[in-house]
Amino acid sequence: MELVSAPYRSYVLVSREQIARNYRSVKSVAGPGVEVAGVVKADGYGQGALEVSRVLLAEGAGWLAVSSVDEGVKLRCGGVREARILVMGGYLPHEGAALDEYGLTPAVHSLEQMRELHEIAQQRGASIRYHLKIDSGMGRLGTRAPAAEIVAALERTPHARLEGLMTHFASAADYNSRQTEEQVAYFQSIAEALRGAGFEPELVHTSSTNAIGYGRAGGRHNMVRAGHALYGYVSPARGAAPRQLLDVAPALTWKTKILAVKDLPAGALVGYGGTFRASQAMRIGILGVGYADGMFHRLSNRGKVIAAGKIAPILGAISMDLTTIDLSSAPGLAPGDEVTLLGEEGGARLDAQQIARLAGTISYNILCSISARVRRVYV
Ligand SMILES: *Cc1c(COP(=O)(O)O)cnc(C)c1O
Repeated sequence: MELVSAPYRSYVLVSREQIARNYRSVKSVAGPGVEVAGVVKADGYGQGALEVSRVLLAEGAGWLAVSSVDEGVKLRCGGVREARILVMGGYLPHEGAALDEYGLTPAVHSLEQMRELHEIAQQRGASIRYHLKIDSGMGRLGTRAPAAEIVAALERTPHARLEGLMTHFASAADYNSRQTEEQVAYFQSIAEALRGAGFEPELVHTSSTNAIGYGRAGGRHNMVRAGHALYGYVSPARGAAPRQLLDVAPALTWKTKILAVKDLPAGALVGYGGTFRASQAMRIGILGVGYADGMFHRLSNRGKVIAAGKIAPILGAISMDLTTIDLSSAPGLAPGDEVTLLGEEGGARLDAQQIARLAGTISYNILCSISARVRRVYV
């Protein structure tokens, strides 16, 4: 990424070009004829749903996917007109009208919702397209109804149009588990039964990043839903996994200014609770970032940042707005200089997966937690 400095206490740089490259890698692994829906929920995994969407649309994406009706409406209001938008995370009864008004396509999770959509469509004298989600064994959203009941519901709801059939995998990167194979088999059996009854959805999709990366095709499918990969990540596999196919790299760099630098004598305490004590004289830096910006409090006395191209430890408790680091190995840094919280600087590198391990969470959680107070800058 080019060197850019922005006049903010704390900001992220998002490389549009890297997101475009990641999207192209997903396209090429998904293969010809397979639609790649770009998942931009949670404000594009913290990277800006609208800006990420614009990059994907410029690359020719025909579909975007979000979690909620609200997120879909924001994209439409932000100027996303042509692309189809799949609302994956369910909707509430009072949101049914907005789906139609804003041209959003819901994932439907129950036979009851099929009936409701049918009624809305009938009242409007139009047909509403939806994707039916099958709970193939994750035990989260999706219908667990047997195929015969789904077929009967389809026959009763002609104004709601089954455009897609989908499921979601719980353990796609885990090769110690049989869960994905079992989910694929269950999903296939439902898809076959629907086909046998004359219901052939145009779009069939099962795979998100990990399933794409490890080549778990999930049978006959012609769409995938990629989120994490667009932002540069694939989860590490467990067990005997095949080679990972995606060639993606992180698109986001998070930087913060040093507010103050000072020298502490041996024995001085740092931060709330005095949880760090200097064992010798040392130089510290106070950063303009804290847990209100998305620095996990769990990184207190365990996290790291990059200062002057070298890894520097976080000292003491992370506060709401401030974080203290050890500057002993970067004595040249002064107030107003920057450190890198996530990204690459001078050969040192910290990515969301490394930070997640230290914080006891997952990389998705790190990216989505960078708060709105942190300015987004696009390069
Ligand atoms: C979030 C989500 C995705 C995208 O998952 P990634 O692992 O980020 O690619 C796909 N499908 C559903 C249903 C989701 O909720």
